[in-house]
Amino acid sequence: MKVIKKEGTPTTEMRREKGVPFLIFPKLESTEIVTHGFSTRLGGVSEGIFSSMNLSFTRGDQEAHVRENYTRLGKAMGFSCENLVFSDQTHTTNIRVVTEADRGKGFVYPRDYTDVDGLVTNVPGLVLATFYADCVPLFLVDPVHHAVGLSHSGWKGTVGKIGKSTVERMGEEYGTQPGDLTVAIGPSICQDCYEVSQDVIEQFQDAFDHKVWKELFYQKPNGKYQLNLWRANELIFIEAGLRPEQIVTSDICTCCNPDLLFSHRASHGKRGNLGAFLMLRER
Ligand SMILES: [Zn+2]
Repeated sequence: MKVIKKEGTPTTEMRREKGVPFLIFPKLESTEIVTHGFSTRLGGVSEGIFSSMNLSFTRGDQEAHVRENYTRLGKAMGFSCENLVFSDQTHTTNIRVVTEADRGKGFVYPRDYTDVDGLVTNVPGLVLATFYADCVPLFLVDPVHHAVGLSHSGWKGTVGKIGKSTVERMGEEYGTQPGDLTVAIGPSICQDCYEVSQDVIEQFQDAFDHKVWKELFYQKPNGKYQLNLWRANELIFIEAGLRPEQIVTSDICTCCNPDLLFSHRASHGKRGNLGAFLMLRER
């Protein structure tokens, strides 16, 4: 696993249970109220471009293989698949308040909602699930009010500040104060791997104060830019009222690790999906 070098101890750890590797954040684990994880492409039964732990039902893989992958991953991470609740990701900033009525939606039953990029809940045992291949997973844990959030933040979600929307929604629904949260910015594409064009940068210039532009992107001789989605999401959480020490950011890039993780950029779109999972434990 290629780790982006940072100071101090690694923020992300590889675990292996029942033959299935996955990534976790020790900082989230230390809250002791959640089960969580981020899948790799290892430990599943899918073949070819989906090899082997593909979690997408809609990219052409065999359904039986995908179901077996979920079963294996659930046993490894410690959740039951009948408790899964899926997002319906379309690069919005829409957040769904997940309740008991949603148990199983996406895996056991069809979803009866669309255009949902963020999920929040205070129901223990429901397993929030969102999907990735370079975009940024945001895990939010509120140990004070026993509530969690999980949001998908690609460049559009980041421009729209879905991280801040998730914090605010948890505030409205559960009384979460920004200072209560522990959050993780998960494995996703690093700045060195993420070239974008001028039109994307213009939207970031509109969304972020010019004082932080140099932390977010730089222009190259070819006229393109390299964009830092990790830093952008950190700044969004700080704008939402969190302190830096409440935020942990992954040191793992999907595109730098194409044998370990699915990357849309590295595979030119021929790939499966990774999954982020977050469950509030029973008290
Ligand atoms: Zn990278």
